[in-house]
Amino acid sequence: MSVSQLAKSIAESPTLRLNEQARLLREKGEAVIHLGVGEPKNRAPIAAILSAASKLNTGDVKYTPADGTPGLKKQVIRYTEENYDRVVAPENVIVSAGAKQSVFNILYSVLNPQEEVVILAPYWVSYPEMVRMCYGVPVIVKAEDGGFVPRMEDIEKAVGSQTRVIICNSPNNPSGVLYPESLIAQLVEFCERKGIWLVMDDIYHKLVFDGKKSPSCFKYTNKDTETSKVIAVNGVSKLYGMTGFRIGWAVAPRSLVQVMTNVQGQITTTVSVLLQSAAEGAMSGLQSAVESLKMTLENNRNVMLQELSSFSGVKTIKPDGTYYCLPDFRAYSQKSVELSEFLLKKALVVTVPGREFGMEGYLRLSYAGSIKEIQEGIARIKWALDPSAPNEIYVGDRKLVRDWL
Ligand code: PMP
Repeated sequence: MSVSQLAKSIAESPTLRLNEQARLLREKGEAVIHLGVGEPKNRAPIAAILSAASKLNTGDVKYTPADGTPGLKKQVIRYTEENYDRVVAPENVIVSAGAKQSVFNILYSVLNPQEEVVILAPYWVSYPEMVRMCYGVPVIVKAEDGGFVPRMEDIEKAVGSQTRVIICNSPNNPSGVLYPESLIAQLVEFCERKGIWLVMDDIYHKLVFDGKKSPSCFKYTNKDTETSKVIAVNGVSKLYGMTGFRIGWAVAPRSLVQVMTNVQGQITTTVSVLLQSAAEGAMSGLQSAVESLKMTLENNRNVMLQELSSFSGVKTIKPDGTYYCLPDFRAYSQKSVELSEFLLKKALVVTVPGREFGMEGYLRLSYAGSIKEIQEGIARIKWALDPSAPNEIYVGDRKLVRDWL
C-alpha cells in the first residue's frame, strides 16, 4: 500500500491500543484489570446530559461557528477568569474536539518544517507524534536527577534558534507530579522574553490533591493577552470525566486563534453542537461533580500508594494530582514494553509502559478505576514479579500458579 513516509512513521497511540486489547480480552470473558485507563467511572454530570438532550429535542442540530458556540465560549471565558484570574474576549477562545485537537491545532498553526518543540519528560505520549505530524522536531528534556521535574537550566540549554514552542503539562500525565510554582514562573518569564510559545496543557489542573493548587500561568506574565506567548489548553474530559464528549479549548492571542480557526474550519468545520451544549451544561451547572471526582481520585491515589509501599522493589514518587502514578520497576525489568506485555499475559493487568512517556523502566498505573481494581491489580502484579508473594492467586474463579520465579 502506498502511504506517505510521514504517516507511516506515526506510532499508534499506545493507550488506545491497550484499551482495545483490554476490551477484546474482556469480551472473551477474561477477568482483566485495566490500570491503564485515562478516564474515571463516573456518569456525566446531569447538567451536561440535560443540556445536550434539550438541544437534541429541538431537532435543530446544525453547524456552529468553527471556533465554538457563543454559549460555550462564554463559559470558557468565565472559567478562565475564575481559575486564571484573566479576563479574555470571545476572540481569544477556540473550542476543539478535545484538548488533543487544541494542542495539534496550535502546533500546526505555529510550526514551520524542521522547527523545534521542547517537550518536558516524562511527557504525554501524543506530543512528540503531533510535533512530527506538523513536520516539526521534538526535543525532549529530562530531569537531570532521574526525577519527574526538569530543571530550568536544562530547558534553557535545549532551546535553540529553531525552538518555537515549549509544552508544559502540570500536573503531569504520566507522573502525577505538579511542577513547582517557581518553575512555571521561570518558564513564563523565559518564553515571553524569548518570544517562544508556551503551551500550558492544563487538562488536569483542577484535579490536585492534599489541598495544593495548580498555579495560574497567566499570573507570571506582564504582557496582555494579545502580546503574550502563553497559551492555556483545557477541556471537560478529565475535569468532569466527560472523555467521550470530545470537548477541549485553547485560550490564546486573537491573531493565533484566528489562524487556528481557519485551520480547524478546513478540517473538522466545528465540534458537534450537541457535545458543545453538553460541555456548556457541565460548566454552567453545579460544580460538585469536580470536587467529588477529586476526592475519589485522592482517596484512590492513597490506596495505590499504600499497595505499592509493600512492594519491596518498586519506588514511587507521590503524585500530586491527575489519575496516574509512575512507579519505577527497574528492579524487575529495564524494558517496560516487555514488562507490560508480561503482566497482561500472566496476570491480566493492563499497565502502560514508561518508554512511551520517555521513562524506560517505569510503568504508568492509573487509579481512576475502583479501589477493588487497584488492590487486586497491584496484588496480581506483586504475584507476577515478587518472589516473596504467595505463588498462587485467584483471578476470577481461576487459580493461577506462578512457575517462573
Ligand atoms: N493532554 C493530556 C496531558 C492528556 O492526558 C490528555 C488525555 N489523555 C489530553 C491532553 C487530551 O484530552 P482530550 O480528551 O480533551 O482530548
